[in-house]
Amino acid sequence: MKEDILHNLEVIHQRIINACKKAGRNSDEVKLLLATKTVSAEHIKTVLENGETLIAENKVQELKEKYEELKELPHKNHFIGHLQTNKIKDILKYDVCCVQSLDRLDLAVRLHQKLLSENKTIEILIQVNTSNEESKFGVHPDQAVELTRQVSKFPTLKIKGLMTIGLFSAETEKVRQCFKILKNLQQEIIHQNIPNVEMKELSMGMSGDLETAIEEGSTIVRVGTAVFGARIYPDSYYWNESKE
Ligand SMILES: *Cc1c(COP(=O)(O)O)cnc(C)c1O
Repeated sequence: MKEDILHNLEVIHQRIINACKKAGRNSDEVKLLLATKTVSAEHIKTVLENGETLIAENKVQELKEKYEELKELPHKNHFIGHLQTNKIKDILKYDVCCVQSLDRLDLAVRLHQKLLSENKTIEILIQVNTSNEESKFGVHPDQAVELTRQVSKFPTLKIKGLMTIGLFSAETEKVRQCFKILKNLQQEIIHQNIPNVEMKELSMGMSGDLETAIEEGSTIVRVGTAVFGARIYPDSYYWNESKE
C-alpha cells in the first residue's frame, strides 16, 4: 500500500508537469493538495514523509481524529468540505490555515467573530458552484463577486482566490466550461480592485480532470483517489449533506 501511494504520487506529479508543459505554464505555479477524506493517518504520514506539505479534509471529525498523529510532521491543513457554523471553533483548534469552501455570508460573519476573539486570521477561498448541480455547495456564479465584496470587509478573513468542483462528466468540454467560469470570475474580481482581496489562487481540478483545470489556469489541484485509491463512501456522503 505504501509503495502504491508513493508510485501514485510520482504519477500525479508527472501529470501536473505534463499538463503545465502543454499549457505553456511553469509547473511551480501549480500546487498539489492531497484530499485525505477517509484516508488513515498512517497513509497520510506516508505522503508527508515523502515531502508533500498540503493536505485537506472535508469533515471536522476526521481532522480531529488524525490531528495528534500528524502534528509532528510539518504540513498545512486546508478545509474543503461544507463547514457548519457550529464547527468553526474546531477549524481553529486544529490549525486549519485556509478554508477553501466559504460560500455564504453567515459563515463569514461567524468565522470573523471567532477569529477576532482569538486574535487570529485565516485564509479564504470563495467556493463557487460552477456546475449548477444542486448537490454541490458553493455560491452561484452570479453572486460570487458580491459575496467576495462582503467577505472582504472582515479583516480577519484573507481572501486568496476561488475554488470550484468541476462537473462530473466524461465530456471534457463541459467540465472545461466550469473552470472557465471560475477563471472569468477571478478576472472580474481582479478588475474591480477590491481592498483586502487577493485573487492569485484558483483551486480547481481533481483526480479526473486536473489536466483540463491546469490548462484553464488552476494553481491548486486537489487530488484524492488518484493517490490513495478509491474511497468506500460515495462522494454524496461528503457533498450532499443537508444544508443548514
Ligand atoms: C474528495 C475531494 C477532492 C478529490 O477528489 P478525487 O476525485 O478523489 O481526486 C477534491 N475536492 C474536494 C472538495 C473533495 O471533496
